[in-house]
Amino acid sequence: MNVLVTENIAQEGVVLLQEQGYRVDVRLGMSREELLDCIEGYEGLIVRSVTQVNKELLDRASRLKVVGRAGNGIDNIDVPSCTQQGIIVANTPDSNTMAAAELAIGLAFAIVRHIPQANSAARIKDFRRKQFTGWELDGKTVGIIGLGRIGSIVATKLKGCKMNAIAYDPYITDERFKTYGVEKCNTLEELLEQSDLITIHTPKTEETYGMVGSEEIARCKDGVAIVNAARGGLICEDALYDGLKSGKVYGAAVDVLDPEPGYDKPPQDQAYENKLLELDNVILTPHIGASTAEAQYSVGTTVARLVGRALQDQLVEAVNIPAIDARAMEELRPYTELAEILGKIYYQAERDTVEKIEVIYHGELTKKETGLISRSAYKGFLEPIVKEKVNYINAPVLLDGMGVEFIDSKSSQDSKYTNLLTVRFSTKYKTLSVSGTVFAPHAIRIVDFFGYKLDFEPTPYIIAIQNVDQPGIIGSIGTVFGDAGINIAAMQWSRNRRGQKAVAFISVDQEADPATLEQIRAIDGVLQASMMKF
Ligand code: NAD
Repeated sequence: MNVLVTENIAQEGVVLLQEQGYRVDVRLGMSREELLDCIEGYEGLIVRSVTQVNKELLDRASRLKVVGRAGNGIDNIDVPSCTQQGIIVANTPDSNTMAAAELAIGLAFAIVRHIPQANSAARIKDFRRKQFTGWELDGKTVGIIGLGRIGSIVATKLKGCKMNAIAYDPYITDERFKTYGVEKCNTLEELLEQSDLITIHTPKTEETYGMVGSEEIARCKDGVAIVNAARGGLICEDALYDGLKSGKVYGAAVDVLDPEPGYDKPPQDQAYENKLLELDNVILTPHIGASTAEAQYSVGTTVARLVGRALQDQLVEAVNIPAIDARAMEELRPYTELAEILGKIYYQAERDTVEKIEVIYHGELTKKETGLISRSAYKGFLEPIVKEKVNYINAPVLLDGMGVEFIDSKSSQDSKYTNLLTVRFSTKYKTLSVSGTVFAPHAIRIVDFFGYKLDFEPTPYIIAIQNVDQPGIIGSIGTVFGDAGINIAAMQWSRNRRGQKAVAFISVDQEADPATLEQIRAIDGVLQASMMKF
């Protein structure tokens, strides 16, 4: 399988993928046309923040299974379209938080002490220090917009510099403000009016793009310092320009521009224009928030590991599946396997169209993060009937498109199992359920098949029989399999009442061909025989 890397990642990441047998093409600075022309040859794509992974690209990416975003923000990736196409989007949100936070703090000091300007002047032997008198952060108020991973580190470190930290973030709990000892602002205006230094650390969303514009800057204290080391355009560049020009804004530092320039082009090929470049009281850095040796190593190797595992169809922490960390994912693995098996049973045994699928959790499972388990059940359910590739990512989207209602719920009813998972399929005419449990980490058992109790270990090939409970059936079935040269590894019958209907699971060593199944169905008393593959 082939992986295309369009933006720079640590060489260790590339080597890691090559060692797993992937062909890795590192093609930096490609034109859009070149990228569109070659993308169909790749199963994996690794980008940073510049490559636009949009519909135009995805339409041509017929083999693409995973987009690895080396870094944090995902605003250059059309995640809903990836989800629709079953493409995993994985990023490395934690790898560069310290680097970005430290840069924001460095930029804050650089603004108020004119460090870059003083350095440039000294280089041309202009040592007139009077022009570089600044002010101190100690005792002043920093207003942090977005108190997430980076914002909270900035808060902690600047409090260590004896700044008073306030923050505006309507999406986090009061508890989080308390944890970081940061005063909560209920509105952005409150923050703007009190801050001597404003630093923004939100993602780029419809809501945050341009959230600090000319009206907001007018509300700021005169002589405010502003840092944007998050995403270009969160602080509207026109408004910032006017504020800097008028002196309302003392100085600003911007690591991220809107739009971004190409970061790999030499100056002579750079046609980039931005009026912020004209001003002396703005410090511009070329998106170096994550540019530390530690962050680069971590980002490169983490993204490579994620892409490698996703290409082997392993579950990875991805943007477009429920948020879950690697350890928790490992713990859930036997349950996701069980859920997929239970989901797979219905359309291998029945024909009526399912209108609703419910995943019901009992016992210890009610305390687990169940989003991924439900998705595994949906994936299993769809696999026998959907031609397109179905995975954890697009299973809910596909169900939605088919008009199948899907829900999950937690049952408070006692069961004899410490954990029990039930998948219930409802058609126009009836409701059928299957249940299973996990004993030891990998001891999966199917314990209920359409209302009949079993204790059956799923194997790759199982023949499910529904029959009338009468003597002679087992012998006749054994004879058919014997004649067909099919070895029976295990079997189990279950009935609810003597002489009525019974079901059987027969584990066989190979797939039974349609003719053999027909012979089984022709046995007197056999109502149904289905080949199930897991
Ligand atoms: P995060 O998701 O941990 O935190 C973002 C916070 O913003 C969250 O707490 C969220 O509640 C808050 N938020 C969202 N909308 C908001 C709104 N309208 N008003 C106020 N708060 C809002 O993200 P993070 O890892 O801390 O990253 C923050 C930013 O830094 C992102 O934009 C990321 O892309 C950027 N970043 C830049 C660099 C760089 O190289 N300059 C490196 C890493 C991250």
